Amino acid sequence: MEKTKQLYEGKAKKVYATDNEDLCIVSYKDDATAFNGLKKGTIVGKGVVNNRMTNMMMQLLEKNGVPTHFVEELSERDTLVKKVSIVPLEVIIRNVSAGSFAKRYGVEEGIPFDRPTIEFSYKNDELGDPLLNTYHALALKLATKEEIETIEAYAFKVNEVLKAYFLTLGVKLIDFKLEFGRLKDGTIVLADEISPDTCRFWDAKTNEKLDKDRFRRDLGGVEDAYKEIFKRVTQGK
Ligand code: ADP
Ligand code: UDP
Repeated sequence: MEKTKQLYEGKAKKVYATDNEDLCIVSYKDDATAFNGLKKGTIVGKGVVNNRMTNMMMQLLEKNGVPTHFVEELSERDTLVKKVSIVPLEVIIRNVSAGSFAKRYGVEEGIPFDRPTIEFSYKNDELGDPLLNTYHALALKLATKEEIETIEAYAFKVNEVLKAYFLTLGVKLIDFKLEFGRLKDGTIVLADEISPDTCRFWDAKTNEKLDKDRFRRDLGGVEDAYKEIFKRVTQGK
């Protein structure tokens, strides 16, 4: 399957059309941004890690009953996916306090929750992805009630599967962001990516950060963190 024309260039990926109108190719870049594009940089090798890791996670989730957009890995950076119309919601699941949760509610990072939390933000760069609840999402007609229920159920299932999986690799899954899309017939599937750009991963023993927070917070060792998490998922250790 070949790329025909570029449909979209985002902050971390490009999306291309193909000869098949139901399929597109996503191409992962090394470009990194944070704070809604305010901080920019390059993480060498990130595109390869995020592409391959996302595809492994999507296949694991499919096996566990979560439908995804994944079709076929084409190369180190390129993957064939089902074309979807993205539901403009960023779906965030948290197991442990961190990031904007810790800041917003004035608690320290690293507090484990008895139950995972879910929150939505409106995927809209101009507005800075504002937090919203399901009533707001319905009022804005971003999704139907049924779609939101489906998305919530899938998001918690993704958490269950990935949390258990990462624990076997000595990694705590702190929080992550998902995006869902609609196929032509309206079926909701998991789309976009699951990578150190979109998840917080802490080493289970040392709590060392193995994700994009190393870039966001200028902690150093950014490339090494991506390499380390990739090594664990590919070697199953
Ligand atoms: P952003 O748009 O936030 O800068 P990216 O650089 O990751 O993000 O761009 C990839 C874009 O492709 C995102 O807007 C994402 O919602 C979209 N996307 C992800 N999966 C699919 C898919 N299967 N079909 C169509 N669009 C998709
Ligand atoms: N996240 C993301 N894209 C965003 C916002 C958040 O992938 O636009 C991920 C982020 O990597 C983390 C989780 O969602 O794993 C929760 O992020 P948080 O709300 O704490 O925001 P941040 O601290 O990144 O501003």
